[in-house]
Amino acid sequence: MGLLPTTSSCFGILARWFVAGRPSGEANRVRCFMRSRMTSATPDPTNLVLVGGGHAHLFVLRAFGLDPLPGVRLTLIAKEAHAAYSGMLPGVLAGTYRPEDGQIDLARLADFAGAAFVHDEALTLDREARAVVTREGARFPYDILSIDVGIVPDVAAIEGARENALLVKPISRLLSRWQDEAGRDRGDAAPSGAVVIGGGPAGFELAFALRRRFSGLSPSRGNRQTALTLVSGPHLLSGLPKRARHLARRALAEADIALVEGPPAKAVARDRVELEDERSLASSLTLVATAARPPAFLRESGLAVDEKGYLKVSPTLQVEGSPTVFAAGDCVTLLGQERPKAGVFAVREGAVLADNLRRALTGRNLRHYRAQSRFLVILTLGNGEAIAARNGVAIRSRLAWWWKDRIDRSFVHQFGGGLPERPPEDAS
Ligand SMILES: Cc1cc2nc3c(=O)[nH]c(=O)nc-3n(C[C@H](O)[C@H](O)[C@H](O)COP(=O)(O)OP(=O)(O)OC[C@H]3O[C@@H](n4cnc5c(N)ncnc54)[C@H](O)[C@@H]3O)c2cc1C
Repeated sequence: MGLLPTTSSCFGILARWFVAGRPSGEANRVRCFMRSRMTSATPDPTNLVLVGGGHAHLFVLRAFGLDPLPGVRLTLIAKEAHAAYSGMLPGVLAGTYRPEDGQIDLARLADFAGAAFVHDEALTLDREARAVVTREGARFPYDILSIDVGIVPDVAAIEGARENALLVKPISRLLSRWQDEAGRDRGDAAPSGAVVIGGGPAGFELAFALRRRFSGLSPSRGNRQTALTLVSGPHLLSGLPKRARHLARRALAEADIALVEGPPAKAVARDRVELEDERSLASSLTLVATAARPPAFLRESGLAVDEKGYLKVSPTLQVEGSPTVFAAGDCVTLLGQERPKAGVFAVREGAVLADNLRRALTGRNLRHYRAQSRFLVILTLGNGEAIAARNGVAIRSRLAWWWKDRIDRSFVHQFGGGLPERPPEDAS
């Protein structure tokens, strides 16, 4: 407690320095302050609190585990015990991967990073006292805070979706409900009708995952196979090049997945999906991968958000007007470099975030993150093939699937089995 005013004023200086982005007399004082905290004989740790086990924070934890920063107390607050790697989710539903193949054990990763793992949900910030307040009522004071909490499904426009459909996020809930739904009243039989709602990459891949999952099972009511429909909304894969969309449509037709492009879904009941144009599709298993929104806690925390509620962050990944708060992943809008919500950005931001948190803690200039404008998209088709698209070029091949499988497996491996042994603690 006694140190708080000092900390607070020094962070005020730190804040102005970050905002100015260049060293000054004040910056030197900040450096001295941070250094004295790091080397003080009476340890007074600086609190770095990470909220959310998103993709970017995986890199932060790994980086701090590989190169620990003395004098820093690291805490991870995460709503879920495992970070689900969404790139492998369609393969998990299809049965290509085991559920655990696409999961990262956050407690283990936190342990590697020397961080305290708090399995709880951040509810709000007490910005005055600089503390995170959790659902369980615990308070975690921070000197530097980093937020990577992703997005949540927004199904307000589809009546009954929350009750009657499987929502794609949170992935842990999807997976546990998937086990129940896939077995519900069916024994080994596949449903006679299933619908996936969502015309982005996630919805597209999930439709193929269902086709694959049910291909070995005989559907109920004596049908030849499950009648599968993808309801894409106005446009299928709107952000992808024309050639990729052409390949995607052809692949859907070959897999006997009906595409409804145009009228969006307006309601989901236990046994059907109703469309805006009054059509009704029989469906005893409906998956929804449509619009998403930022978690309400971001706006409620009083941090700078855009009109939709995403945190506004500068290229240094600091939240606008709050230099001691960093953020990354789907929950942010990168000022001046707006991009679609995709894991590829959260991943690229992760390395810069890890570096900038370290720089902030040691009073050094921050790096700028530059979001790439072109990136590779690989869509799996559930049959050992994938469509790969980049720079307006698209191909469909087995090699593309092989490549994605390698990328995905090595991503998960680096935060689990691939973590090196930690050097023994210095006993002195
Ligand atoms: C089926 C599917 C397939 C996809 N495939 C791809 C792909 O191939 N390539 C690609 O680039 N993108 C893909 N995406 C998108 C990708 O999943 C997201 O862009 C990515 O996960 C975003 O990562 P993130 O770091 O923002 O956070 P997330 O990975 O969303 O993680 C956020 C974490 O924070 C936790 N959390 C949330 N609120 C709180 C709180 N208040 N307190 C504590 N913890 C909290 C959540 O439980 C969650 O674990 C796919 C998405 C889906 C659904």
